[in-house]
Amino acid sequence: MTFQDLELDDTLCHAVADMGFSKPTSIQSLVIPEAMDSRDILASAPTGTGKTAAFLLPACQFLLDYPRQEPGATRVLILTPTRELAIQVYEQARAITAKTDLVCGVITGGINYGTDKETLSQNLDILVATPGRLFEHIEKETADCRDIECLILDEADRMLDMGFASIVNQIAAEARWRKQNMLFSATLAGKGVREFATNILNDPAVLEAQPSRKEKAKIHQWYHLADDLTHKQALLLHILQNDISNAIVFVKTRDRLQALKDFLAAEGVMVCWLQGEMPQDKRNAALARFKSGEVPVLLATDVAARGIDVPNVSHVINYDMPRKADIYVHRIGRTGRAGAKGTAISLVEAHDIEMVARVGRFTDEPMKPRVIDSLRPKHKTPKAPVKKKKVKKSAAKKKAKGKK
Ligand code: ADP
Ligand code: MG
Repeated sequence: MTFQDLELDDTLCHAVADMGFSKPTSIQSLVIPEAMDSRDILASAPTGTGKTAAFLLPACQFLLDYPRQEPGATRVLILTPTRELAIQVYEQARAITAKTDLVCGVITGGINYGTDKETLSQNLDILVATPGRLFEHIEKETADCRDIECLILDEADRMLDMGFASIVNQIAAEARWRKQNMLFSATLAGKGVREFATNILNDPAVLEAQPSRKEKAKIHQWYHLADDLTHKQALLLHILQNDISNAIVFVKTRDRLQALKDFLAAEGVMVCWLQGEMPQDKRNAALARFKSGEVPVLLATDVAARGIDVPNVSHVINYDMPRKADIYVHRIGRTGRAGAKGTAISLVEAHDIEMVARVGRFTDEPMKPRVIDSLRPKHKTPKAPVKKKKVKKSAAKKKAKGKK
């Protein structure tokens, strides 16, 4: 299937071609026809499978089919949980509408109110916003939601996690003359999303994309066993210095991030970093340097990386393993997007082996060990945790027997 087959306007088809999209992803081919049929949409697909264009394209098509008759306020409102996401969605909206006259704007926290005023003074066709800042404007009556015809909630699961349910419901109530709603989420599991959906959507088409094999089987994953921190650093340095175009390196804590940053800088590796509580302009600057390719390595903690989306990361490196398997999946979702090949490498100490096994069970894809010849671990891979349990049991039995 092609974008032309979806009966999208030529201006949109040309734009996506310029963006390097040759054909729709699974979720895009599922959503676009239903959305163009004016249905409400409840959609889920894994991270990195093109959900943004799945809602932007039909929304733009609608705006082109029914052009604005008179000046007025926003017609399509897209809410996202974080500032970075809002900016990314906005950038994608700009790219998709590049060959049209549609006007896009973005409003998020951390931007000055003067800029917001300018943004809102245009006849916006598409507004991307974070709920908090938009609601401030609604309360001050500096933003008008009465012209909204289509409401789109991106990353609804994360929006709920971040406690935005009530604000989003209030914004939806302000946009009461809307004709269409779309809710996108990485997962539809969980009562929260369902409830949210019932409140906001009318008889939605429920669309869940299982990514095709080609879209899915694209992340190569393996791990290196490390003896200690020094060994880990040497492994990371070796990996970063050998055929990496861009990598996100995940680190457990801020302190470890600082130490690693100093180590890599001393070794002459260019890095930028995101850490929690970094001012917004610094975060944006770091991300921009990484996205532009100026700096090939981005260091981040999970907290700091929340909500960022960096297209085409060649490698995700777990310098520290995450505490939970779903966080691992979230981390590696930043590589191998939309059919591109990606690699996820974990540096693992003996005490992480259990986590490696857990991740393997969670993803149904056991991670394989690898060694770098010049950096072989001194210690052997510890036994699999399943065996460990058995040993423990029998040891416990023996103890019990001994007591008797
Ligand atoms: P999601 O929201 O599902 O996590 P995104 O919409 O952020 O995913 O898309 C992930 C990446 O895939 C982006 O870099 C985007 O430009 C790219 N992409 C989206 N649709 C296509 C497509 N049809 N073909 C190729 N790349 C695509
Ligand atoms: Mg998304």
